[in-house]
Amino acid sequence: MLMGKKTLVKVNNLKKYFKVSSTETLKAVDDISFEIFEGETVGLVGESGCGKSTTGRCLVKLHDITSGEIYFEDKEIFSYSRKEKLNFCKDVQMIFQNPYSSLNPRMTVRDIIGEGIGLHSKLKEKEKINRIEELLKMVGLNKEHMSRFSHEFSGGQRQRIGIARALSVNPKFIVCDEPISALDVSIQAQVINMLKKFQENMNLTYLFIAHDLSVVKYISDRVIVMYLGTIVEQGKSEDLYKNPMHPYTKALLSSIPVADPNISRNSSRIILKGEIPSPINPKDCCRFVERCCFAKPICKKEKPITKHFENGHTVACHLY
Ligand code: SF4
Repeated sequence: MLMGKKTLVKVNNLKKYFKVSSTETLKAVDDISFEIFEGETVGLVGESGCGKSTTGRCLVKLHDITSGEIYFEDKEIFSYSRKEKLNFCKDVQMIFQNPYSSLNPRMTVRDIIGEGIGLHSKLKEKEKINRIEELLKMVGLNKEHMSRFSHEFSGGQRQRIGIARALSVNPKFIVCDEPISALDVSIQAQVINMLKKFQENMNLTYLFIAHDLSVVKYISDRVIVMYLGTIVEQGKSEDLYKNPMHPYTKALLSSIPVADPNISRNSSRIILKGEIPSPINPKDCCRFVERCCFAKPICKKEKPITKHFENGHTVACHLY
């Protein structure tokens, strides 16, 4: 744990497997551990299929887990009583990647945002409407939008409705699952800035899932890099971006365009070979071995253990 910070979420040896057939198991998340401190944003990055969204879904209990433990405020989330479950549903929210499919097309905006308020508060109807109006204003919409259906909005507006729905119950922790990847570039910065502002004003904690490392750099205090169901590197953003250690992180970072032509000329780009391999029955060695230009014989035989460096920086690679 970093000094002086309170742990809000703690994940110990989390595994989430899906049985594909009698002989095949898809190991979407395979033995990962990390912590999220109160008030911070942790970026969770990696290519499609690396297990980042499955991790997010386990954290909000949208998936059962195969094994491991997830603690929220020191209590294991799969051992909750009925009352604790209800509190968890209020305290932990999710903003989904696709604003088109995450909103019920048969519900008005008032019902979408008001649903959680009705469940988790004792507000009377008039107070509930006032609260919905306030939330719409906060996300840049207005009260005239209340009686409309989600298909009447643009992608950016729908994501604003999704954010208002998440905020409606005054949560403590929000899993943002690629919340801007389906949006136009012009809208992405607005949504990111809005999330940052709400975090400051409401003391929110975010897990921000993305494949775009430049976005994660802008919003995250710490970054976790996943590859094929495992965590390969994690650390404070400034450390990880200045001094990436794992070959996969180096490759991901080298693919970010640099605006300064002098820096761009001096830095060499690492091109990742091939696609991310299948997570079905993965071999018990370094999962990055087939794409790594630094691979040694041991990398094909043994799984690298996680080594710890300064400031909570960790790396799982045989080079260290
Ligand atoms: Fe590359 Fe070996 Fe490190 Fe894996 S363990 S990333 S193959 S050097």
